[in-house]
Amino acid sequence: VKKQQTDTSASTCCYCGVGCGVLVHKDKSGQILVEGDKKHPVNSGMLCSKGLNLHYTVNDTSDRLLYPQMRYNKSMPMQRVSWDEALDRTVAVFKTFIDKYGPDSVAFYASGQCLTEEYYVINKLMKGFIGSNNIDTNSRLCMSSAVAAYKMALGEDSMPLCYNDIELADCFYVTGANPAWCHPVLWRRVEAHKAANPEIKIIVVDPRVTDTCSIADLHLQLNPGTDVTLNHAIGRVLIENGDIDLEFVTNYSEGFEQYSALVFEKSVAESAKICGVSEHNIRVAAKYIAEAKGFISMWTMGLNQSSIGVNKNLSLINLNLITGHIGKPGSGPMSLTGQPNAMGGREVGGLANLLPAHRDLGNPLHREEVQKFWGGKLINPKAGLTATEMFEALNDGRLKAIWILCTNPLTSLPNVRLAEEALRKAKFVVVQEISNKPETLDYADVILPAAGWAEKEGTMTNSERRISYLNKIIEAPGEALPDAEIICRFARKMGYKGFDFTGPSEIFDEHVKLTAKTNMDMSGLSYTILKEQGTVQWPYKKRGPAQGTQRLFIDKQFYTDSKKAIIQSVPDTLTSEFPDSNFPFILTTGRIRDQWHTMSKTGKVNKLNQHYQQSFLEIHPIDAAELKIVEGDIAVIRSRRGEVRVKAIISPQIKRGVVFLPMHWGKILGSDLNRVNNLTSDQVDPISKEPDFKYCAVNVIKY
Ligand code: SF4
Repeated sequence: VKKQQTDTSASTCCYCGVGCGVLVHKDKSGQILVEGDKKHPVNSGMLCSKGLNLHYTVNDTSDRLLYPQMRYNKSMPMQRVSWDEALDRTVAVFKTFIDKYGPDSVAFYASGQCLTEEYYVINKLMKGFIGSNNIDTNSRLCMSSAVAAYKMALGEDSMPLCYNDIELADCFYVTGANPAWCHPVLWRRVEAHKAANPEIKIIVVDPRVTDTCSIADLHLQLNPGTDVTLNHAIGRVLIENGDIDLEFVTNYSEGFEQYSALVFEKSVAESAKICGVSEHNIRVAAKYIAEAKGFISMWTMGLNQSSIGVNKNLSLINLNLITGHIGKPGSGPMSLTGQPNAMGGREVGGLANLLPAHRDLGNPLHREEVQKFWGGKLINPKAGLTATEMFEALNDGRLKAIWILCTNPLTSLPNVRLAEEALRKAKFVVVQEISNKPETLDYADVILPAAGWAEKEGTMTNSERRISYLNKIIEAPGEALPDAEIICRFARKMGYKGFDFTGPSEIFDEHVKLTAKTNMDMSGLSYTILKEQGTVQWPYKKRGPAQGTQRLFIDKQFYTDSKKAIIQSVPDTLTSEFPDSNFPFILTTGRIRDQWHTMSKTGKVNKLNQHYQQSFLEIHPIDAAELKIVEGDIAVIRSRRGEVRVKAIISPQIKRGVVFLPMHWGKILGSDLNRVNNLTSDQVDPISKEPDFKYCAVNVIKY
């Protein structure tokens, strides 16, 4: 493609929250080729296997939905219809339910892969005009525990540092994450930093020996679910040894005395036993942190996806707070966002408990501000249904209609057979999708074809608060439309004012205006600036620095009422589903290197399918021997909720008593026996409502 290229545009990879810059070359036939953007501040030209193969997913349109479809009865086949017919029917059904059962009878379930402008209009439509907060996204399954913890510790959902801090840090504490596979380009930067500076210390905390461990100075192979105990034990050693930042703790934080009393309740030896690591290694970890001039804690789903996800996050952030490693170069808590634009979604308030610009749904002044700005209905103070709650509400009939866009809950939700049952019972299901593969389509009454990456313009925000502009590079196939355009057409047909945007640029302008004078003020930003300057980090105020804001809290003033960071004293009690004699193993789930989410894009690329061609069970050799399972045998894994059957991979890299299955596979040729979420627990964290994907009890036998 490059040889005959006619056009090159800059864009951003649409997979993970690292946010790598790409150059997209388009030839005369509209085929594209992607390469890393050498000038991009995040990746300097590097791309991982997923980013490098991005063009295959776009050039291959064989699985694309090309026109709207609908049916009046689930037993009937889908019929091709016009956009007007599909949207008029949807409007009629939504109006009927809203009139008869109230606005809370309908819901939108969206995605961390939506562009910011798309999130903005869905959120405005639901909260400002329909009058319900039933808009949630698959970010609920991803970062919501980190969001809640940031808010409790720092006063707002704000990742305080930037990727350039990596090269300034000399100790990394990587926990509940395998960035070598899941955030690869960011991890390449850590690897390069370690190669150039072998004295820097890398501590990895994980029940599995992952590729991330290959450059670790210390691997704490803890028992699943014991993260809070471990973090408290490290906190205790730091306090015991006088390795805390007394000035920071005294002047800029609250809650230290209570925290100190709490972490001294258990001896280090006791904690070591609970965590399944040595006391010596806990002390070594504390020593590495104590000796660091720059200390970064890094984490993702291993902490977030837990029934105590918020507590796990807080116990980790506490290590940065008690050592004063925040608001200065090379230091801070660095949450690794799973999806490309989960941050952008939160910026516009795209979760059931948020309002735009991180405003609080529970705050009457915030509700009034947003309502006046939008000119719509009074905003309902009651939090909407979260991701898993929506499917519970479909099951018990409280929710009548759901509009699912840009996500495939029938692979990704926990205890997914309940979600299937819920969609079967739903009175009306709209699926807005690019691909004809997701299982949700089987349950749809209306199917709306959406434009994909490179087929529409908009913005995304990566993990370090960096906003990128994404060009429209090619035309969407068939009649597919950008998601924001579909939502605005629907809103106008509903009779709502305020959706006459001429394009995404106007939506963005409205969004940034609503951020003015908030902590994430980006009112100085426009598409023109993004196109001229490239990516910038928020806050980006009018007349602020040209590149935005690299680091937050450099003045040690936090977003809490007292302006102090809060050291939260959280219990280390695990509330997950424990193993017993019937279900003796702990199941943990996660990503593999070359696949993304439910594989509707990466599953199309032969090269990416070579890494693992099918789902598998990873099990320790001693456990396998006791079960008489040898490599390649089919294992049957059962939990209280369901069953899967996959090939066994025998590996000493996992702890005894723990088994691992990847998250990506759903139904294949009608069989759901590869789908790990048949097994997972639907328990959620009580604060963040994030599911417990990393811990449930299962039984394993040879097939
Ligand atoms: Fe894309 Fe993430 Fe890979 Fe970068 S690291 S190329 S953003 S998937």
